[in-house]
Amino acid sequence: MSTLRFVHDSLAQRVLFGAGEAAQHLAAEIQRLGARRIMLIAGGHDPQLIARLAALIAFTEKMFHDTQHVPVKIADEARDAAVTQQIDLIVAIGGGSTTGIAKSVALDTGLPIVAVPTTYAGSEATPVWGRTADGVKSTGSDPRVLPRSVIYDAELTLTLPAPLTIASGLNALAHCVDSLWAPRADPMSTTSAEAGMRAIAAALPAIVVDSGDLAAREQMLLGTYHSALAFASAGSGMHHKICHVLGGRYDLPHASTHAVVLPHVLAFNAPAAPEAADIVARTFDKSEPSSPEAAVRGLWSFGSLVGAPRSLKALGLNEFYLDEATRLCLAAIPASNPKHPDSATLRALLADAVAGRRPVLDTERRTQ
Ligand code: NAD
Repeated sequence: MSTLRFVHDSLAQRVLFGAGEAAQHLAAEIQRLGARRIMLIAGGHDPQLIARLAALIAFTEKMFHDTQHVPVKIADEARDAAVTQQIDLIVAIGGGSTTGIAKSVALDTGLPIVAVPTTYAGSEATPVWGRTADGVKSTGSDPRVLPRSVIYDAELTLTLPAPLTIASGLNALAHCVDSLWAPRADPMSTTSAEAGMRAIAAALPAIVVDSGDLAAREQMLLGTYHSALAFASAGSGMHHKICHVLGGRYDLPHASTHAVVLPHVLAFNAPAAPEAADIVARTFDKSEPSSPEAAVRGLWSFGSLVGAPRSLKALGLNEFYLDEATRLCLAAIPASNPKHPDSATLRALLADAVAGRRPVLDTERRTQ
């Protein structure tokens, strides 16, 4: 009997991967795409890198931007500059915030993007855009914002400080885990998620030990790309929806918020998503047989191993906002989630994340 049915969209994108090769790859892509009036949108963390690239490539317009969650005002300024300067290609060099501004311009203008990521956010390989106005983050998916080309160069990530490396690496891991139960999860997205998880599970601890381990940094970028493929294909699950609400409403740091919330969402979903739990357990906990408990224990231990941030309170969200956050998050959880939390359960989950407590398996919480 046939039980396997799915619809999978593969995304059209060119990936150029090579440590120390960003400048040559970028010049080659600009030539291949026939661009003449290029706008650089870059993060401000590495002026020397930009100076090196500017010596090779004539940028018509340059904009430096690192503000999180794509404030509409900044995105509109970038779009207006692109239109005024008759730009025909955007080059985005930086983390997810920088890529996010480029995507917002592409959404409004249809301009192509070449993305050179410098964190593990993964935005470069998704058609997902986001913008924030008046504390509300809107997100959507549009093929126009998917960068035409992605240039991965692990040398550009060597400057990432340890806390950012860890948080951003766990953001990539969250893409993998959440995609296992996300609305459009299919065997292709699950395969990418597993590959991403394995790469991240091996690479992140190695980078924590030696931040200059270039081979581990390469594996981390490969894991990032897999994680983004999984997320782009499967869509936003319960975890991402919660993080988007919290990030936009309370202006929390994106990657660290993902790092804190993920074990709690896993603990809620794992008993109702045994196949997903099994994949996580086999990656992070070697005990047999695998179980939802092992998945949660394994992910929590991995967080301890790499020094994951644990508390939303430490990121700026205190208990005062729990009722409001519960209401907003509850409304955002996809109907396709393995099960839907009631308000009291979600409040307890968020309270644990705010306080930095160990995650509680949903089946245990209900017997408490
Ligand atoms: P970020 O881009 O905000 O960067 C965080 C900080 O790291 C900044 O100060 C930046 O200057 C610095 N930085 C970046 N690269 C560095 C490097 N190599 N060395 C030293 N410092 C460096 O953080 P992020 O976590 O990459 O991105 C978060 C944003 O990306 C959020 O707005 C989030 O919504 C978005 N995002 C979007 C998607 C998507 O698919 N659309 C996916 C993930 C994240």
